[in-house]
Amino acid sequence: MVTPWNSTTGRNRFRIISAKHVAQANVFPLPGPFDLQRIVEFEGAFIPPDHLFPDSTPQQIAGSAAYREPRYFDQRQNLLVMSFHSILIRTPTHTILVDTCIGNHKPRPNMELWHQRNGSYLADLAAAGVTPESIDIVMCTHLHADHVGWNTKLQDGRWVPTFPNAKYLFAQKEVDHWQQQLELKPSAEVNHDSWADSVAPIIDAGKAVFVGMEDEIATGICIVPAPGHTPGNVILRLEDRGDLAYILGDAIHHPIQVDYPEWSSRFCHDPDLSRQTRTQILNRAVQERAWLLPAHFPTPTGAGVRRTNEGFALIPP
Ligand SMILES: [Zn+2]
Repeated sequence: MVTPWNSTTGRNRFRIISAKHVAQANVFPLPGPFDLQRIVEFEGAFIPPDHLFPDSTPQQIAGSAAYREPRYFDQRQNLLVMSFHSILIRTPTHTILVDTCIGNHKPRPNMELWHQRNGSYLADLAAAGVTPESIDIVMCTHLHADHVGWNTKLQDGRWVPTFPNAKYLFAQKEVDHWQQQLELKPSAEVNHDSWADSVAPIIDAGKAVFVGMEDEIATGICIVPAPGHTPGNVILRLEDRGDLAYILGDAIHHPIQVDYPEWSSRFCHDPDLSRQTRTQILNRAVQERAWLLPAHFPTPTGAGVRRTNEGFALIPP
């Protein structure tokens, strides 16, 4: 087997990518049987750093490595660049979609960019050679509105499963949490009311499978608990003969948190636990020389991570 890491250059083998992959920045060359691709719903300057990360200071932001990288930070507008994408995993036996972004026609009046979208997500999936019928598994790392949207589509005035042949995997713990929240608060105040149009129709259609926090969902693809952002938040670990990748969802939101792993987002349910989880994942990624694919990292999205004197740094592809 080819060594996944070259200790002389400090580069991992994921750097060795074909011309096709260079041309298609959304395709991630991974080892073994995993063919990974990003389906992008939106990417661009999105949110002021102090809004997403309340613990940050302007000085820390300006001093970060991410600030100096225009793909990650729009200095002119003082906005973090973010991407909203799904990760498509094709294995010899399964076609899996991880996190389903925002969706079309969803009423999200409190979030202008998400409200009543009419984007090209399904056409982009088709361009990747995937029909909705061919998706076997949909996995939501958690049930926030920007991770469940394409679970459903509007058809004849009803929300129906977008992927009619898929099992939709939700962590039982995550489902329990949001059901509790819905008992306590008006639904409009819970996740932009996304349960009603993007989760409940899947459960009602009998397509939901409630999974444990450490289940194997396909050969070499395991759920790993990553609580904090939400109580039942999970990530996926892909392994092939020692080569590893993690699909991270929102365990880490932006490359600037590689500089400051202690910053939890304003949207984290338990900021302290989220901080602990994030630091553990980064440590593990260093030890395991793993490839990371977070849900909102802008292009180039996938990266390795290494230790520095100060903490961690990204190893871009
Ligand atoms: Zn998110």
